[in-house]
Parts: sequence; structure tokens; C-alpha cells
Amino acid sequence: MLKKSLQTLRRNLEGVVSSESTDIHMKWKYLAGKWMRSMSRSPHSESDRGASVPKEKVDCVVIGAGVVGIAVARALAIKGREVLVIESAPTFGTGTSSRNSEVIHAGIYYPRNSFKAIFCVRGRDLLYEHCSRHDIPHKQIGKLIVATQSSEIPKLNNIMNCGDQNGVNGLRMMDGLEAMRMEPELQCVKAILSPLTGIIDSHSLMLSLVGEAENHRTTFSYNSTVIGGDLEGDQICLHIFETKGLQEWNGSSVLCPELLLVPNLVVNSAGLSAPALAKRFSGLRREAIPPAYYSRGCYFTLSNTKICPFKHLIYPIPEDGGIGVHVTLDLNGQVKFGPDVEWIDSIDDISSFQNKFDYSVSAKRAERFYSGVRRYYPNLKDGSLEPGYSGIRPKLSGPRQPPADFVIQGEDVHGVPGLINLFGIESPGLTSSLAIAEYISTRYL
Ligand SMILES: Cc1cc2nc3c(=O)[nH]c(=O)nc-3n(C[C@H](O)[C@H](O)[C@H](O)COP(=O)(O)OP(=O)(O)OC[C@H]3O[C@@H](n4cnc5c(N)ncnc54)[C@H](O)[C@@H]3O)c2cc1C
Repeated sequence: MLKKSLQTLRRNLEGVVSSESTDIHMKWKYLAGKWMRSMSRSPHSESDRGASVPKEKVDCVVIGAGVVGIAVARALAIKGREVLVIESAPTFGTGTSSRNSEVIHAGIYYPRNSFKAIFCVRGRDLLYEHCSRHDIPHKQIGKLIVATQSSEIPKLNNIMNCGDQNGVNGLRMMDGLEAMRMEPELQCVKAILSPLTGIIDSHSLMLSLVGEAENHRTTFSYNSTVIGGDLEGDQICLHIFETKGLQEWNGSSVLCPELLLVPNLVVNSAGLSAPALAKRFSGLRREAIPPAYYSRGCYFTLSNTKICPFKHLIYPIPEDGGIGVHVTLDLNGQVKFGPDVEWIDSIDDISSFQNKFDYSVSAKRAERFYSGVRRYYPNLKDGSLEPGYSGIRPKLSGPRQPPADFVIQGEDVHGVPGLINLFGIESPGLTSSLAIAEYISTRYL
């Protein structure tokens, strides 16, 4: 099994070198061969391993091939850097990036001048442009944020102000009657129309970004997990382990790396696992790593209805920990409601690297959905909601705490040259991905 996966890595790398024989590609071909030889000599002996673990210098390593990691890799590669993406899963985008609402957010809710506000607005524009240029399925369908009772109107006004301050163009406050004329199934007393909000096929987006990154000679190494790192002088040395080996690991023996990488630049874009991984970088100040919280959001899909009840996305007033159980339409016309908010416990770090989070959607949660959704969609029929899927928000603030901003940490914060940690990249991370990548490739190169 181990050999097979390493052979795959070597085949991938050879596939890359076959077209262009550059330094980095030759290096990777050599490295993969060296790694395989070392593993076939002594796959389990820790004492041997210490001496024989292959070690290589590389230019840039991006940890995690979610939408943000891929976008960062692409941006670095376009700037001429040699990039290696290490991803624990067998392919890209299997984490939070494939478990979200696929909404291109306009940038309304986030505090003025926060990373979330700045990156969402910039990322939205970059995303629409990228989608048009690369024929990525998307639709700027617009959304309505609705107050369903007069007590919610002050909150709706605050949202409107916040959107205006963030420079979101085209927002319009409308009275309930006008909104309900636009959407006859809707019940509300007042609404904000956000014409810049849209939906996107996130898998096609990631595929196009991977393609562009590869065209700029980025190498994706799947089934490879970063299990930690340490400081060598003032550079970080990453410890890599084959993911399948982790699945066989009994948890009691010491986990020794199978490969060491010493990059000039490391971007920790491991999503839900980013804080847990940073804790395994010995030499990185613990105080620099924010506490991690996890909030599961479940979706229910609408069955028994062939005709989509809404033309726009419909969002209620945000709740603690999320932006409310909203109506989302995907590009196939499927209607889904969600995500709700359920705070869950963390799991151990090695399990989190393998994405062993609990994504099950309990049918019992439907009851809450019926009452929540009927506040703005009173005609929702009994028995029409079916459990869909769930995603987990990588949060930096816990229940009843004010929402935290994205955290992007470089040497100026944690003192380790060449290490960039991305923490708390929850919503609007998909919308912001190209802007986060632009920021990193501009600020840190
Ligand atoms: C319920 C929900 C709804 C959302 N809706 C929206 C929305 O509509 N619009 C929007 O803009 N945003 C939305 N988001 C946010 C968006 O989905 C995320 O911000 C974005 O997908 C984060 O991407 P990422 O690359 O940071 O993380 P991920 O997609 O989680 O990628 C991290 C990758 O790192 C890998 N990894 C982890 N540990 C290791 C390791 N040790 N070694 C190697 N690889 C590792 C994982 O396998 C994974 O592939 C939503 C999020 C949730 C949870």
C-alpha cells in the first residue's frame, strides 16, 4: 500500500518532468526516488529512520489543497515561484471547500476594514472575473436579506449600514410588499436586495485553479500529510508522512517523519486543522496560535417540489455563529436550506489531518429547520425536508463570543521566517480565496 502510494507520487512527479525538465522537477524526481528507496529499506525501524529520512530544500510549500491553498499556490506559481502543495486527501477540495453553500458573497456583514470585509469584496470581483474568463458555471442571482417581524428591522438597518461601509454597491432597502411581489412565496416586513450576490460551482472553480497552478509548474502531492515541523536555524523543516500510513498507525508509537522538507516559504492552509498543525511546529510560540472552535452546519434539501419556490437566495437575520438558515439554490436548481449552527468538540490532531470529523446530518434536526424556515417561507410543506450534507466552520471564537476575523500570520507576528499561518478561514473564505492569495503573494514575496 505504502509503496503503491509512493509510486503514484513518483509517477505524478515524472508526469510533470516529462514535459519540461527544469531544476525543480528533476529535484522532485530525485526526491521521490530517494524517498521510495528509504521506505523500502526500513519502513518501520525508528532508529534507522532517523538516519535515513530523506531531506530536501524546496522553494514554496502550501499545506492543504482546499480552495484557499490552491488559490495561494496558483498565485505564487504565477509569480514564478516553485510550488509544492501537500494534501493529505487523495485529491483536492475534499474538506470545507466542498461542504459549503457555494455562494459568492457580496461582502455585507463583516466589520469595516476587517480582513473578511476587504477580502470578500475584492475576492468577489476577482471571482466573477475569473469565472467569466474560464467559463466556470456561476450565476449572479442576487439575494434578499429579510426581517420577518418589525423587531428585526433595527438589525436589518445595521446590516445595510455595514454593507454600505464595506463599499458593497447596489444594496437597496425595500418594504415587505415589494419584496413579496418579487418573491411570492416569501413572507417578510422589510428586506435588503443584494444584487451582487451569486452562486458558483466550487468544484469547477477549484479544477480551473489547479489547472492554472499546474500550468505554472506547481506540483500537487496528494495522500501526503504534514505531521509537524521544527526549526532548523531560522527555517522551518516540515515532517511529512504518507496518509495511508497514518491510517495504519496505532497511536501509541512515536510518529517519525518519512520525508523532511525545508522550504523557503510555507503556507499553512490546512483549514480546520491549521491551528492543530501549527501546535506541532516545535519552536513556534504557542501564544501565537489562537484557540480553535468547531461549528457544524447542516443542510436539508427540499423534496416533493419540482418548481423552485424562489428566484433569489433568501437570508434571514444572522444568528450567533452563522448567517442564518438560508435558502440556497445550486446551479442545477436544487433548493437547500442551511446551514444551522451546532458547536461540536474538537478531535485529535492526527484524525483531523485525515478529515475524520463527524459530518453526519441527523434527521432529528429537521424540526428546527421547519420552524426556522417557515418564518420567511410559511408554505413549506410537512415532510418536504430531507437531510442533505454538512460542513464544519473553522472558528476562532466560541459560542456567544463576537465573531473573529480571518487570521493571516507571518514572521512579524510569530517570529518564524517564511511561515504563514492561515487561521479561521470560515465563510466568506470561498468568495475571498483569490483575494487572500493575491494578498499573500504580494505581501510575503
Ligand atoms: C457550512 C459552511 C458554509 C459555507 N458557505 C460559504 C459560502 O457560501 N461562501 C463562501 O464564500 N464561503 C463559505 N464557507 C467558507 C468556505 O467553505 C471556506 O472558507 C473555504 O472552503 C476554506 O477553504 P480552505 O482551503 O481554507 O480549507 P479546506 O477546504 O478545509 O482545505 C484544507 C485542506 O487541508 C488538508 N489538510 C488538513 N490537514 C492537513 C495536513 N496536516 N497535511 C496536509 N493536508 C492537510 C485537508 O485535507 C483539506 O483538503 C462556508 C463554510 C461552511 C463550513
